Amino acid sequence: MVSFTIVCIVVACLLLYDGVPIGLSRLLGIGAFQSAKGVHSVALTFDDGPDPNYTPRLLDALRDAQIHATFFVIVDKARRHKEIIERMLVEGHEVEIHGYTHACVPLLLPWTSVKQVALSSKVLTEELSVSPRWYRPTWGLINLPAWLAVKRLHLRFVTWSVMVGDWRVTEPDELMRRILRKLRPGSVIVLHDSDETPGAERLAPNAVISLIPDLADQVRSRQLDFVLLSSWR
Ligand SMILES: [Zn+2]
Repeated sequence: MVSFTIVCIVVACLLLYDGVPIGLSRLLGIGAFQSAKGVHSVALTFDDGPDPNYTPRLLDALRDAQIHATFFVIVDKARRHKEIIERMLVEGHEVEIHGYTHACVPLLLPWTSVKQVALSSKVLTEELSVSPRWYRPTWGLINLPAWLAVKRLHLRFVTWSVMVGDWRVTEPDELMRRILRKLRPGSVIVLHDSDETPGAERLAPNAVISLIPDLADQVRSRQLDFVLLSSWR
């Protein structure tokens, strides 16, 4: 009987720690921004950079297509590639928090979960002159301590509405078809500008960079503009 009670307490704690925050945000869409309503625009966002092999070429493509995007960065990498972050800001993009490292937040202890948000915010603010407004947790998975840290820092928790598996090596045309199937006014499109994340395939971001000109044409042909995520806040 005692052991059953202990099991029940452990299950209840795990539900409160991970299950409820993940269930609310990912399954029910509660508490996490996924798309905008009543707008004629879409937000193009990138996760996992900055990556010196891909992000500068992506920035070239975005500049040529006259698109401003929102970059959810790994702050430990941002520290090592400050010049890329500076270029993002100079060219009109915004820089937001994906995590200090690409750890899976629900598996972290409370203080390391908070650190993923709080240390990221502190470093971006103090070392990179960025005032973050959004947090997109790695793999879109959050737990209770990270959620509370987001609230305390007045950040907004965001996931996405268009995700197309671009972390696997895929032809740009196929990625484009997947994007267009899901694209709506107010969509938050997530793509990736690094292949270092666990689960990502080597060289996969090359297709993402290649599809930018076509994406610009396809979105604009539907009378939609590209906007920064923060324009909807
Ligand atoms: Zn990621």
